[in-house]
Amino acid sequence: MVKYVFVTGGVVSGLGKGVVTASIAKLFQFRGLNVDVIKMDPYLNVDPGTLNPIEHGEVFVCDDVWEFEPAPGYRFRIAEVDQDFGTYERFLDKNMHPSNNITSGQVYLSVILRERVGEYLGKTIQVIPHITGEIKQRIRAVAQRNNPDALLIEVGGTVGDIEAMPFLEAIRQLRLEEGVGNTALIHVTLVPFLETVGQFKTKPTQHSVKVLQSSGLQPDIIIGRSMGELTQDVREKIGLFCNVPVEAVISDPDLDVIYELPLRFESQGLGDYLCKILRLDVGRDEGALKAWREVVNLYTSAEGEVAVLMPGKYTLIQDSYISINMALDHAGAFNGIRVRRTYLDTELYERDSKKFYDLLESSDGILLTPGFGSRGVEGMIEAARYALKNDKPFLGICFGCQLLFIAFAREVLGLGDANSTEIDPGTRHPVVDLLPEQRCEKVLGGTMRLGAHPIRILKDTKLYEAYRSELVYERFRHRYHLNPNYVKSAEQKGLKISATDVEGKMVNAIEIVGKKWIIGVQFHPEFKSRPYRPSPVYYSFIRELVARKSAGEGRR
Ligand code: GLN
Repeated sequence: MVKYVFVTGGVVSGLGKGVVTASIAKLFQFRGLNVDVIKMDPYLNVDPGTLNPIEHGEVFVCDDVWEFEPAPGYRFRIAEVDQDFGTYERFLDKNMHPSNNITSGQVYLSVILRERVGEYLGKTIQVIPHITGEIKQRIRAVAQRNNPDALLIEVGGTVGDIEAMPFLEAIRQLRLEEGVGNTALIHVTLVPFLETVGQFKTKPTQHSVKVLQSSGLQPDIIIGRSMGELTQDVREKIGLFCNVPVEAVISDPDLDVIYELPLRFESQGLGDYLCKILRLDVGRDEGALKAWREVVNLYTSAEGEVAVLMPGKYTLIQDSYISINMALDHAGAFNGIRVRRTYLDTELYERDSKKFYDLLESSDGILLTPGFGSRGVEGMIEAARYALKNDKPFLGICFGCQLLFIAFAREVLGLGDANSTEIDPGTRHPVVDLLPEQRCEKVLGGTMRLGAHPIRILKDTKLYEAYRSELVYERFRHRYHLNPNYVKSAEQKGLKISATDVEGKMVNAIEIVGKKWIIGVQFHPEFKSRPYRPSPVYYSFIRELVARKSAGEGRR
């Protein structure tokens, strides 16, 4: 029998609810239980694929592509999911399925299209019971497909949001139907610390629990997100006003290493408390706990630092490149070093080129980021050109790889106006062009080349040194690719194809022959990087930075 654990958020967004949800799932794993996680997103987009990363954070890509069939005769491909799925995968070492991301868009689409094909003949279609029924059905479909011991369901947004109402109502109904002891509700709220009075303030938490209660939901556990550990008196006050026992009020303090959160929860007794209310009679697997402690130690014991510059276009918020940030951290930890990341908004190239070049120069390595569209793109190409000319270690991801190829074509092949047709559709030298199968594609949602694909890695390349395997699977999210017509001439001038698809037709990675560590990959290795298993490419990139740094220090 599946136990359902719901996680809602209160007071403000951006509390790190995804990390909390993943950490709670980890507590079940510490007890040898199987877990699965659902994220319910109240926005009306069908999937986050068309959202701007500055507004919503990174779009995560799963291994699998899901053929979503909202009603007979209608099909949509979904592989792009909320960034929280990256957190779940990293914490739980589990490949998540795209159908675990339930959006309001999907729910309404299903109900409305089914009404059109006549599934509800004679009935008035309403939020209750049809929308709520569809939400419950989607949750139960995940429970049935994977049959986990515990299914965590994170609700996006903040309680009180109008669009989240049907989700809360569905939870209320589901809790009633599943019965006492089979569900738990965890509410994550902000407990601000007011410097002027030197106190934690509980009122926002009290208010947000009241909002939940007015939807018929009483939380079992309250997790207080705060600057530091909540004091005993604050926990007692929250317990009293929010109607939960004091041991069910848990601290979620700021942490340097997020992977420590499951251990913080465990030491507060959250794992045992949850199992008690869910009537799960299981003991703790000390080995699993110890293994996780060792993972955390890797991150706390890293010493010294290397500086990676990330030129790109979505530099306003950290979350836009969250999987890349994490992959760099993983690679750093396994090299025993911290990675200092600096984002560079490449529009700076047009505004203040001196500052732009200073930043490139002061970095130990450059990671050219993924992206879409033409804003800031000349600065990104210039960053790649700088790496080529100045022998700066360089890793280009997807768009970053395409722009490296453009920089190479301009700088080395002498094609001054080489470009991608994404940026300049009329370019004389389309060195990056639409994938053949994309030429007749008119619709933008879920139609890119998505999901995991096999990649053939060529021997005697730096990429092979990184992977030590001729066949790997990595995830893709692109519409354009390196134009094979330009590859031959590039190969004569010092560029090497280091990976293709299995047929050997599509170029999946390039590098510069010789000592320069300059690699571009058409895929997104960051999506499969885990805190205990860094991505081989990222690991090699950081290892190169460390090696150069210590060689440089040796010289001095
Ligand atoms: N815009 C490019 C493409 O569609 C790169 C996409 C990306 O970086 N994910 O191919």
